[in-house]
Amino acid sequence: MRQKEKIIKELHIGCGGPRPVKAPGGAELHCKGWYQEAALRMLCNNLDPDNGENPDELIVYGGLGKAARNWECFDAIVRTLLDLENDETLLMQSGKPVAVLKTSKSAPRILIANSNLVPRWASWDYFHKLDRMGLMMYGQMTAGSWIYIGTQGILQGTYETFASLGQKHYQSDLRGKIIVTAGLGGMGGAQPLAVTMAKGVAVCVEIDQSRIEKRLKKHYLDTQAPTLDEAIAKAQEAAKNKTPLSIGLCANIADILPAMLQKGFIPDVITDQTSAHDELNGYFPRGLTFAQALQLRKAEPEKYKNMALDSMALHVRAILEMQKRGAVAFDYGNNLRAQAMKRGVDNAMDYPGFVPAYIRELFCRGQGPFRWVALSGNPEDIRVTDRELLRLFPEKTKMANWLKMAGEKIEHMGLPSRICWLGYGEREKAGKLFNDLVREGKVRAPIVIGRDHLDCGSVASPYRETEAMKDGSDAVADWAILNCMSNVASGAAWVSFHDGGGVGIGYALHAGQVTVADGTDESEKKLITVLRNDPATGIARHADAGYETAIRVAETKGVKIPMVNMC
Ligand code: NAD
Repeated sequence: MRQKEKIIKELHIGCGGPRPVKAPGGAELHCKGWYQEAALRMLCNNLDPDNGENPDELIVYGGLGKAARNWECFDAIVRTLLDLENDETLLMQSGKPVAVLKTSKSAPRILIANSNLVPRWASWDYFHKLDRMGLMMYGQMTAGSWIYIGTQGILQGTYETFASLGQKHYQSDLRGKIIVTAGLGGMGGAQPLAVTMAKGVAVCVEIDQSRIEKRLKKHYLDTQAPTLDEAIAKAQEAAKNKTPLSIGLCANIADILPAMLQKGFIPDVITDQTSAHDELNGYFPRGLTFAQALQLRKAEPEKYKNMALDSMALHVRAILEMQKRGAVAFDYGNNLRAQAMKRGVDNAMDYPGFVPAYIRELFCRGQGPFRWVALSGNPEDIRVTDRELLRLFPEKTKMANWLKMAGEKIEHMGLPSRICWLGYGEREKAGKLFNDLVREGKVRAPIVIGRDHLDCGSVASPYRETEAMKDGSDAVADWAILNCMSNVASGAAWVSFHDGGGVGIGYALHAGQVTVADGTDESEKKLITVLRNDPATGIARHADAGYETAIRVAETKGVKIPMVNMC
């Protein structure tokens, strides 16, 4: 009881407005069980100023991606989690707690639905209308499902993408290659470090100076240049010396790319991670200062949206021109190409998305962004999990290399955490290992395990995860719903289903799951079941689409797929 009152005081529950939020750590419970406690700590962790891009407005990342609908809802969620019994389930509707049901101990403690609209109504305009009426919030992927772990969450995926690009196009790493990109936000901020980890040189254009400073402070970005000419000179010098380097440049990318073309500067690789999926609250149109843009957004939203879409068209035309002049171009999952198509750039899809280009083969093996967080708040617990994972999978040399680099280069943001892509079979072994570590007291408190919604079986997103599927099933969303239901049936601690995410309302449907290793036998069973079945749906999805790798993995690893004989 004392613990409950303490946390209510610490989180200023009841004050109804913005306040600094930090996740509690330690081994003592504030809630009635570790599943509820994990949700409470992860909700707070999403809003930690180290993690959240704009915590005062409950925004975690990705344009408008929020952790709770408003501060009153935040207060109510915390109070409900503190009182939630071990046989009850909290229902969350777009950031608002709406019911507590009597279920069972084996059921999820929380079920979350964010930003879902009936398809005919699934547009930004309709969403914004409901948002203004106080009826919805944008959940992005891990913002509204409480499993964001800061920029690290996307770091390994970004690194894998750049490393795979190097192998595919240069048969090596990115040594001596210049990569131009934009956006140093919650996710995009991983790009400079991912490029330098892959040994390349990155020029990262960002309109908001404070984002550049945030990435410099956390050592995701090495340096910044005051002008385009200096950024190019620094990049060329580093590339010549084959020295990895990341350079920030405070400017609008829609101004910078045409200027690069005019100067005859063509990078080796061109991509983008501005929040292009959201033309009102994400992307900044050219021709305005940062401050002017923020003002126009509020004063004249329609004018702002038109200007943003015009800029995106220019932006994509410049990427296409760079591609024509020899650059490797790829879309980095922000729906920039589809936005430009709205302004008549009909050939925007001439450059591929990153999933078909570099990631799908991993999805066919059930590989995906497995992540975990030390609820103790002690970074030593992550060092223990890193070390034990290396023992568990001694044969995985790429993973060993990643964990070594991550241990050296990544500063923890909020609760200490780790991301490490694991495949089918491996995830459940890692889950059991972490549960054993908790049971044996080798870590100081339970460990929460989750993943990005960007995974092999959890998403239907025709311009991203399911772009250019072999059988044409890009827009079939049944798979994402089956993934969600499988995770509920398998006993995840909390499960979520969202519309939107990285590509915007109406463009994607996706599911998330979180489990908790608290050292009990019951959790062990749930961990093994969830972490086996979750990627199994990914293998089934890709096998059904005709991918040979997925069919082979299903056969060799025992994912049961019924035979359907077509007459
Ligand atoms: P964010 O909103 O936190 O950051 C976007 C950044 O882009 C901001 O810092 C903003 O100032 C900057 N920006 C916007 N317009 C600009 C312009 N014209 N010129 C220069 N800078 C500009 O978003 P985020 O979380 O970093 O995500 C970025 C995008 O990537 C989103 O669309 C998101 O959905 C997508 N995304 C991709 C992946 C992936 O795996 N590829 C994963 C998550 C998100």
